[in-house]
Amino acid sequence: MWSFFTEPEFQTKLDWIKQFVKDECEPLDLLFPHNGDPYDTGNATARAILKPLQDEVKRQGLWACHLDPHLGGPGYGQLKLALMNEILGRSYWAPTVFGTAAPDTGNSEILAMFGTEEQKTRYLQPLLDGEIVSCFSMTEPHAGSDPREFTCKAWRDGDEWVIEGEKWFSSNARFASFLIVMAVTDPEASTYSRMSMFVVPADAPGVNILRNVGTLDEPLDTDHGTHGYIRYEKVRVPLDAMLGGPGEGFKVAQARLGGGRIHHAMRTVGQCARAIEMITERAVSRRTKGKLLSEHEFAQGMIADSVIELEQFRLMVLKTAWIIDTQPHGAARTHIAMCKVAMARVYHDIVQRAIQLHGSLGASNETPLARMWALVPSLALADGPTEVHKIQVAKATLRNAQATPGLFPTDHNVTRLKEARRRFADVLATEGVAR
Ligand SMILES: Cc1cc2nc3c(=O)[nH]c(=O)nc-3n(C[C@H](O)[C@H](O)[C@H](O)COP(=O)(O)OP(=O)(O)OC[C@H]3O[C@@H](n4cnc5c(N)ncnc54)[C@H](O)[C@@H]3O)c2cc1C
Repeated sequence: MWSFFTEPEFQTKLDWIKQFVKDECEPLDLLFPHNGDPYDTGNATARAILKPLQDEVKRQGLWACHLDPHLGGPGYGQLKLALMNEILGRSYWAPTVFGTAAPDTGNSEILAMFGTEEQKTRYLQPLLDGEIVSCFSMTEPHAGSDPREFTCKAWRDGDEWVIEGEKWFSSNARFASFLIVMAVTDPEASTYSRMSMFVVPADAPGVNILRNVGTLDEPLDTDHGTHGYIRYEKVRVPLDAMLGGPGEGFKVAQARLGGGRIHHAMRTVGQCARAIEMITERAVSRRTKGKLLSEHEFAQGMIADSVIELEQFRLMVLKTAWIIDTQPHGAARTHIAMCKVAMARVYHDIVQRAIQLHGSLGASNETPLARMWALVPSLALADGPTEVHKIQVAKATLRNAQATPGLFPTDHNVTRLKEARRRFADVLATEGVAR
C-alpha cells in the first residue's frame, strides 16, 4: 500500500519539534556559531543553555530518535526519523539538542554492535546521554575516496595492538573522548579484508593532533578548525579494542556510513526548505522595475525549479527511509547512494538561487544562507565524493543489463513494427489497411 499520510499523533510531535527548533535551537546557531561549538563539551556557557533543552527533549520522549528502545531511543524507524530530521536540519545545533548529531550517531551504532560490555559502559552510555562526543578517523592525508590506498597500520605486540600512521579530516577529534580508527592489519589480504577497526581513547599516549583543519568559511589564523589532522605514533590499545574481527574494518565502516549518509540527506531537506522559505519571502517583499520580484518570470522560474527539485529529493529520501524500515539490511544501498548524489546537487542549486535572489544581502554574512553556502562543497565530499556514489548507482543499474542479441536495440521501432504487423496480420488484411 502506498501512503503519504502522517499519523495525527506523530504530526503533533512534529509540530512541537518545529516550534522548539525555531524558538530554542536556532538562537544557539547565532550565539555559538562556530562549527565546533555543538561538540565542545568544555564550553560551560553553551552547555548551561544546552542541558535544560536536552532535558526537555528527553521529557517529550524525543531524545536520540535514531536508536532502538534497547539503546534508550523510541525506535521510530527511519521514515519517522526522516520527518523529524528534516526539521532538525534547519538548525546547526538542533541535532545536538535532540541527541542525533553525527558522527556520534554512527559511532554509537558501531559500539552497540561490536563493542565489549566495558566499552559500552565507558563510551557508549555517556555518548548516548550526550555527555561526551566521539570521532571517526578513517580518511588519510594522501587518500580518502579509495580505502584501498590507506596505509595507517596496526600490528599485534603481545596483549596489545600498536597503531601507527596519519589520518586527515577526523571531525571533532579535538573534542572527542574516543576515536574509532581504521587501520591496515593485513596488507597482503584482499582489498576488503586488509583493514580492522579500533576504539582508541583520545588521551592514549601517541594520539597527536598535528592541527585542526578549518573549513572554507573559517579564517586560517583562528583556532576554530574542527577536522583533526592526526598522527597516531605507536598508539597502544588492548586486544579487545578491535571492533569486529580482524579484517572486518570495511564491514564495520559500512555499518555506520549508510545511516550517516541518509541522515545527512534528511537534514538537508530541512535546510533546502528553509532556503525556499527565504526565497519566497524575499520574492514577495522586494521590488524592481516597478513590480515585485515574484512577478518577474526569472524569479518565478527559480522558485518553481527549487520547489520541484526539493519535492523530488524529499520523496527519494522518504522512499529510501521506507526501504530501510521494511526491507532486509542492505536493500537500500543504491538508494542511499542516489540520495547522497542528489543531496549535494539539489542543495547547491537551491542555496545558490536563494543567495542570488537576496542580492548583496545574500552574499553577506547576515543571513543563514552564508553558513548554508559554506557547507555546499562538504555535502559532495563528506562520507565519500559524489563520483564514487554515482559509480555505485550506475553499477547497480547495469547489474542486470543484457547486451542486445542483434545489431539493433531490442526496442527498435523498425523490428517491432514488423512484429506488430505479423501479429495482427489477419485483422490488418481484413480491414484493408495492411501496407
Ligand atoms: C566536512 C567534512 C567532514 C569530514 N569528516 C570526516 C570524518 O569525520 N572522518 C573521516 O575519516 N573523514 C572525513 N571526511 C573526509 C571525507 O570522507 C573525504 O573527503 C572523502 O572520502 C574524499 O576523500 P579525499 O578528500 O581524500 O578526496 P580524494 O579521494 O582525493 O578525491 C578527490 C576527488 O577525486 C575525484 N574522485 C575520487 N574518486 C573518484 C573515482 N572513483 N572516479 C572519479 N573521480 C573520483 C572526486 O572528484 C573527489 O572529490 C570529511 C570531509 C568533509 C568535507
